[in-house]
Amino acid sequence: MEHLRFEEMNLSPEICQAVLDMGFEEATPIQSQAIPLVREGKDIIGQSQTGTGKTAAFGIPCLERIQPDDRRLQALILCPTRELAIQVSEEFRKLLKYKDNIRVVPIYGGQPIDRQILALKKGAQVVIGTPGRVMDHMRRRTLKMDTVQMMILDEADEMLDMGFREDIETILVKIPKEHQTLLFSATLSPEILDITKRFQKDPEFIKIVRKELTVPNIEQYYFDVREKTKLEALTRIIDIYMPNLAMVFCNTKKRVDDLVELLQGRGYFAEGLHGDLKQAQRDKVMQKFRNGTIEILVATDVAARGIDVDDIDIVCNYDVPQDEEYYVHRIGRTGRAGRKGKAFTFCVGKEIYKLRDIMRYTKTKIVQQKLPTLSDVEEIKTNIFLEKLKDQIQEGYLTKYINLVERLIEEEYDAIDIAAALLKHNLADVRTDDMDALDDINCNETDNYGGDGESMVRLFLSAGKKSKIRAKDIVGAIANEVGIPGKALGSIDLFDDYTFLDVPREYVKDILYGMKHTKIKNKRVHIEVAKKDKSKKKRAY
Ligand code: ADP
Ligand code: MG
Repeated sequence: MEHLRFEEMNLSPEICQAVLDMGFEEATPIQSQAIPLVREGKDIIGQSQTGTGKTAAFGIPCLERIQPDDRRLQALILCPTRELAIQVSEEFRKLLKYKDNIRVVPIYGGQPIDRQILALKKGAQVVIGTPGRVMDHMRRRTLKMDTVQMMILDEADEMLDMGFREDIETILVKIPKEHQTLLFSATLSPEILDITKRFQKDPEFIKIVRKELTVPNIEQYYFDVREKTKLEALTRIIDIYMPNLAMVFCNTKKRVDDLVELLQGRGYFAEGLHGDLKQAQRDKVMQKFRNGTIEILVATDVAARGIDVDDIDIVCNYDVPQDEEYYVHRIGRTGRAGRKGKAFTFCVGKEIYKLRDIMRYTKTKIVQQKLPTLSDVEEIKTNIFLEKLKDQIQEGYLTKYINLVERLIEEEYDAIDIAAALLKHNLADVRTDDMDALDDINCNETDNYGGDGESMVRLFLSAGKKSKIRAKDIVGAIANEVGIPGKALGSIDLFDDYTFLDVPREYVKDILYGMKHTKIKNKRVHIEVAKKDKSKKKRAY
């Protein structure tokens, strides 16, 4: 069996509930295999690629084996870097949500040692640390190894790569003979095997191999986004492609619930599907999905597994999937029965590495695409609407409506104004509603830059040098909130009380919308398109 459910693993109720709260629906393969063996007391070599949940694979059974009444050190976990040590402690802390009698202390370089000494003195059953700092504490005798029963080497390959071999051995020889040693790694070098031979007894070798997968032939794109801009990005994609059915994947149940709420709040017909739903609820959602009452179905990988719907136009990975297999399963939801499908993946910062792994493994190309701007969305929606309008005129049967128009004309309204108001009414978008005035002012363009013909628009910001705002704060805020990189922006002129900023025309609406409720350096800053005369005059000195 590949995946076990956590409820089937005989975990203590506290840990089980904590895992479920973390949004994990089922154990990953490495977790399914490692957890029972570690709980039996076996030594383990666990190999599976990055992102497959190795932390919980040792974290869960480790915490299950700790004796809460014994305040002495029982488990020592070595991690290659401070960041990883912190990450692992955070995961442990989450696992301990309903257990307050186990103390976990992270120790790593770069943090004042006195603080760590104090923390250790209070008694910690679990210590998570980097090899250098652990040795430091051993020398100071603030960390005593003689009660350690479980020793875990996390990301062992990386530790050896970083030259920690000797340190690790020095630590391992200090541990009492009777103990359990776990080693987890994405790759296994001969060096690691050498350590395991010397320090492990009769270890069980768990290796999770990747399955061969066939990737459907569909267009795959990714967007470089920030967590904060994902929702906006998703709604733009939906607005532009107008799918009959879109399927959106999140990595946890909570993310599904949150996203569904946000989408519904914006007026989309969205429903969620995940393991917490009762069968009756699931059936209801699926029925709505099939008969077209839903345009967006948001799901976790597990919940989606049972679904069989053919005509999904778009799959969107709101979160980069945990592993390559999930990716292939997810995008395989579209492009069925000979239809054309598209798959989009949102990628935040370093997740690009995960995505590259996916590309390498699936041997497919996922092409980066620029996120559509609000102006793009508007233009496409407008074109589609105008086409519909022309069809309507062709079709005729308009007498009833012509009478209405005539009534208004009798009241001295102008036919063009009437038509324009109707268009506005139909095309209005919550995001750009209040920006129509911009088009009337004709957006005050600055000179063309560098002859590339890209027109820039000057924006006015209601804060400047006196508020201690610097150019990089403005660039940073826009990058953060709107996702537009600094290099896309034009010149920034800071004055005492205000600032002028030149931006490409296509981004004006995105910036005005995205920065509406944002503070720069903790100050609420109002942004608008600069009035031509005002900016000229002010730029004169
Ligand atoms: P690894 O150490 O194998 O690289 P991690 O332990 O860091 O992987 O886990 C990667 C991510 O997957 C983390 O965000 C973790 O919370 C999450 N995760 C772990 N196990 C599961 C699970 N069973 N279901 C869903 N997410 C999980
Ligand atoms: Mg890890």
